[in-house]
Order: sequence, then C-alpha cells, then structure tokens
Amino acid sequence: ARSIIETDAVIIGAGPVGLFQAFELGLLGIKAHVLDALEQPGGQCLELYPNKPIYDIPGIPSCTGRELVASLLEQIRPFQTPFHLGETVVSVEQKTDGQFLVETRRGTQFLSRTLFVAAGVGAFEPRKIPLEELLPYTGSQLFYQVPPEDGSCFANKHLVIVGGDDEALDCVFRFAQEGPEQAASVTLIHRRTDIATTPANLERLHALCAKQQVRFIAGQITGLVQDEHELQALIVSRVADNLDEHLPTDALLVRLGRSPKLGPIAQWGIALERKQIVVNTEHFESSTAGLFAIGDINTYPGKKKLILCGFHEATLAAFAAMRYIYPSQAPSPLLYTTSSPQLHNRLGVT
Ligand code: FAD
Repeated sequence: ARSIIETDAVIIGAGPVGLFQAFELGLLGIKAHVLDALEQPGGQCLELYPNKPIYDIPGIPSCTGRELVASLLEQIRPFQTPFHLGETVVSVEQKTDGQFLVETRRGTQFLSRTLFVAAGVGAFEPRKIPLEELLPYTGSQLFYQVPPEDGSCFANKHLVIVGGDDEALDCVFRFAQEGPEQAASVTLIHRRTDIATTPANLERLHALCAKQQVRFIAGQITGLVQDEHELQALIVSRVADNLDEHLPTDALLVRLGRSPKLGPIAQWGIALERKQIVVNTEHFESSTAGLFAIGDINTYPGKKKLILCGFHEATLAAFAAMRYIYPSQAPSPLLYTTSSPQLHNRLGVT
C-alpha cells in the first residue's frame, strides 16, 4: 500500500486560480500540493483557449491563455510546489480532528489540514464513445491518451482513430508515418466530412488518403465484433451511403476532446447551490471548516466568474487558512512583497 502524503494544504485544480492559490500560500510560508485531473496545469485557459488573448488581467494588457499559465507557473517557481497531474480527486472526507483525507482515482492519498477547491467547472475528462460494449477494452485495445513518444504500441496494428480536429490529426500523421511507430493501417473516423484544421493539414490528410496510407470515413461507430477475449472489428455506419461497414480493428484511439465533469464534488457533503460551493466573502470558506473554495467553483452574492476575482478570493482564503495551520499564532501581519525581507527570503530574491 502507498503511504499517505501529509501536508498543510491541498489544492484541487491547477487552473489559473489554483495556481495563484499556491502562490498566496507560498508567500505565507505554507507549502501546498496541487492536484489536477489533466496531465498539464492551466485549467480552462489551456484546455479551452490556449491561443486566444485575455485582456482583463490587471497590469497585463494582453496575453494568451497559454502565456498566462506560463507566467503563473513562473511566479510559483520559488515555492517548488509539488504537482500531482493526471490525478482526479474522487473522495474527500473530513476526519474528527478536522484534517481532510483526499483520495484520487489512482489511489493516491493526502492528509491535509486545509483544502482549497479550485475545481472550476469540474475535472476535464476525455469525451467517450457512448457504446457500453467497448468499456472492457479500455487500456488494452481502447485508448484515450496518446502514448508517449517512441512508444511502438500501435506498430503493425490496424489502428482506428476517432476525432475531427488537430488532436486527432496529429495522431493520424504520427502513426501513418514510416518508422518504428507505424501502424499496419490507419483509419480516421469522424461523424462529419469536415475536419476542423488548417488548409495545410487538410492537404496532408488528402495526400495520405490518395496514397492509401490513411483512410478517412465520415461515420459513426455503432457496434463491434468481438471474439471471447478481443475486439476484432468495429461496425461503422457511413454517412455517405448509410451502410454499415465492418472495419478490422486492433486498437482504437479516441481523440474527441475533453469535457468538464463536476462528478464527485457533489458527494463530499459540502453545501452546494446550483452545483457551486457556497462560500462566505470574508474567507471564501465553505460550510465545512478548513475547506475553502475559490474561482469558478464557488458562489456568493455578486459572484463573477473572472480570473481576477479568483485571485482576490485565493488571497483572502490563504490568510484565513493560517488559523488552521498555526492555531496558536496571532493573525499574520500584512507584509508587502516590495519591502518585506521575510517575503524576499520566501521568494528567493535579494
Ligand atoms: P478552471 O480553469 O476551470 O480549472 C479547474 C481545474 O480543476 C481543471 O484543470 C480541472 O481539470 C480541475 N479539476 C476539477 N475537478 C477536479 C477533480 N475532482 N480532481 C482533479 N482535478 C479537478 N476569464 C477572464 O477573467 N477573462 C477572460 O477573458 C476570459 N475568457 C474566457 C474565454 C473562454 C472561451 C472561456 C471558456 C472562459 C474564459 N474566462 C475568462 C473564464 C476563466 O477561464 C475562468 O474564470 C477560469 O479559468 C477559472 O479558473 P479556475 O482555476 O477557477 O478553474
């Protein structure tokens, strides 16, 4: 059994607000562990609008979602924040001594004095094909994640990729290309004929199809053919002629993007209002003592789902957390980053 990670603070969600929460806690000398279901930090900024400019971050006239996340990560670098990525929190339980036991789907456990829920609109999870018969093949023949570079797991296999944008196309190009990763065949399935990509990528796809290195089918997977242990073929209903085709398949890679799922938060016994965590505006603390909620996941009179509001919430929540972590200490005085030697020390600046 794995050991429990004991800590003063756990932040659920590595979106912009969760990242800034780590900064504000760091300034107060509190080390936080940051957990996210996604494989990279950034939340909605990176998942939904990485290349779009944001114009309302104070002091930054314009930056893209990706740039904002990079700056926030740079800002917390002095605190050497431990990140636990690809970790979806499935349960939170408050022990009788007030500490929180947090557990992820993979079984990683944390015991923390304070908990900061910065879960936004929920955990981003891959969109699935709604076909129950496929479920048993998850991880053996059905995949949602792209394998690491130089993985030859699809080599010489009949690979079917589902999706209609650049994420799917990147996989098509990668596994159709000559080399150790090359699949025996690559078929791209998308429910419509149009693919959301650049003209150059479309041209590349057409060229591969013309050379019969890739097949593109506009259609939907409606069933499968299996023997006792293995998926043999997919039944694809084609848009063009409305006919079903049996497509021999060794591996199925689904790249349908990700959608946020609030999921288990509803079962954590916290007061919710229309799926948001109700907090006070003094500490941004929920109905559970020591459990703070900041950013898009919370609600209070006048709430606006804006990044800058989340930054303010994270600041006050960090100060309020001190009384759980250092109960016998007097409230922290307000220190300025411009002039406080203690803060300079924590930030590693002279
Ligand atoms: P999120 O960014 O949603 O991050 C939450 C993170 O928590 C996610 O990464 C998720 O995977 C993770 N998570 C959730 N549940 C779990 C769980 N159980 N276990 C593990 N991880 C979990 N705001 C502005 O201020 N200015 C703008 O110009 C602006 N433009 C926008 C444009 C678009 C298209 C969109 C969609 C939003 C825009 N927003 C803008 C809103 C802004 O993106 C959000 O307010 C902000 O992302 C909220 O940050 P957050 O950290 O609270 O949550």
